Amino acid sequence: MARYTGPVCRMCRVEQKKLMLKGNRCKSDKCPMNKKRAAPGKDPKSRVGKRKDYGEQLREKQKLKRIYGMLEKQFRLFFDRAQRMPGITGENLFILLERRLDNVVYRLRFASSRSQARQLVLHGHVCVNGKKITIPSYLVNPENEISIAEGSRKMMVIRDALKEFTKSGVMPWLSVDPDTMKGKFLASPRRSDITDLSDIKEQMIIELYSK
Ligand code: SF4
Repeated sequence: MARYTGPVCRMCRVEQKKLMLKGNRCKSDKCPMNKKRAAPGKDPKSRVGKRKDYGEQLREKQKLKRIYGMLEKQFRLFFDRAQRMPGITGENLFILLERRLDNVVYRLRFASSRSQARQLVLHGHVCVNGKKITIPSYLVNPENEISIAEGSRKMMVIRDALKEFTKSGVMPWLSVDPDTMKGKFLASPRRSDITDLSDIKEQMIIELYSK
């Protein structure tokens, strides 16, 4: 399965935004974005103020794609599916992205980043309605139960990640029982519920793909 294997923090520097791709490190002083370094490239200063239309739309798409850890082809498939669904395309896109199993595992605090959640799914540590699922892009449905496989419940990486649940809880469309390591996807979120990504301008992504 194709995935980005380059330096992860570089993506945040390119987007000039903390994309939170490395779990606890992102919340610590070790995050390179705290040092306010310029975006990588030949002459970053020459680009400031020149990103118009296409450039801005491209950056919004790249940001969202990178946050959910997807490559272009799969992201485009999600967008096409969102367009075919009734309702607002931008909102549909967010609903589909949030329903991804790797994202749900991350949001339930079973992993400290989406990439770690992806690994947990790939290695068979995650069940949906009691059945092991190893496809990170699997779409979770409302009322589905997501749990950590019985043999994996002692994994330190999961136990450590769950400590975040005690600090911050979970998003309102989810519920979790950290003791049994079981959670539920209660309902698809509305766009306004996804507060940690409220700065993403999905309209620009729609404009980009409509060209
Ligand atoms: Fe981005 Fe996290 Fe790296 Fe900071 S530590 S630059 S937020 S991936």
